Amino acid sequence: MTGIFVFIAGVFGLVFGSFLNVCIYRLPRDLSIVAPRSFCPSCQRQIRWYDNLPLLSYLLLGGRCRACKGLIGWRYPIVEVMTAALFARTIVQFGLTTAALKWTVFGCLMVILFWTDAETRLLPDELTLGGIVVGLGFSLFVPLFDGPAALLAPRAGTLGVSLMNSAIAAFLLSVPFAAFAYAYTRLRGIIPPGWGDVKLLAMLGTFLGLGQGILAMMLGALGGAILGGGYILVRKKDPRTHALPLGTFLCIGGVVAAFWGPRIIQWWQRLNGY
Ligand SMILES: [Zn+2]
Repeated sequence: MTGIFVFIAGVFGLVFGSFLNVCIYRLPRDLSIVAPRSFCPSCQRQIRWYDNLPLLSYLLLGGRCRACKGLIGWRYPIVEVMTAALFARTIVQFGLTTAALKWTVFGCLMVILFWTDAETRLLPDELTLGGIVVGLGFSLFVPLFDGPAALLAPRAGTLGVSLMNSAIAAFLLSVPFAAFAYAYTRLRGIIPPGWGDVKLLAMLGTFLGLGQGILAMMLGALGGAILGGGYILVRKKDPRTHALPLGTFLCIGGVVAAFWGPRIIQWWQRLNGY
């Protein structure tokens, strides 16, 4: 894809990242994401438009509010850069297609949920349940061939098969996980993963389909076990009282599976001589 489109996508991503920051702060607190206009979380004063330019304002103001000099979290510029990279990457990989739109929307959901879970241990229903509906909807525009629907309903037609694959993946990723997680955590007396994680897994299934969805779940669980488990060991936290942001790790798994999943799965199959 020509450089200019990738550049425009990146700039668009910076601006959109600004909006995602608003969602990350407001959705877990049940605040409206449209009104009021952006305000400083320390002094509540409204932020002028020229102090609200993505990335630029943060750098110019040295990461502080102009009015109260309170620190602006480093999360703000990071999210803007993450979103810019995501938008640019989507255009590089998928061009100007419906698939690119699907993965851009998916990426935005992943960025918001990554941070809400990390900061507040919350995965807002608007995004997980809403995301399931959006994921199912996208299966009607970007056909999902990965799944058993073609075998189960050979006469369903391409769109019917795609929609069924999306729904089957959502079910198979979430329900067995919920049952297993509940049984395991009860047995060990540790904090079970929340319902938010279960809904998030269902949402990953609707977008990714079965194969890439399972990959996302495995990557997320592995990352959570290694990094989260390591953190608990190093900081000597009690796993019975200290909940891990599993959703944050699932979001990383989701993004990796979305962009590199088919290649990872191919590599894995070759390794095992399929
Ligand atoms: Zn302030």
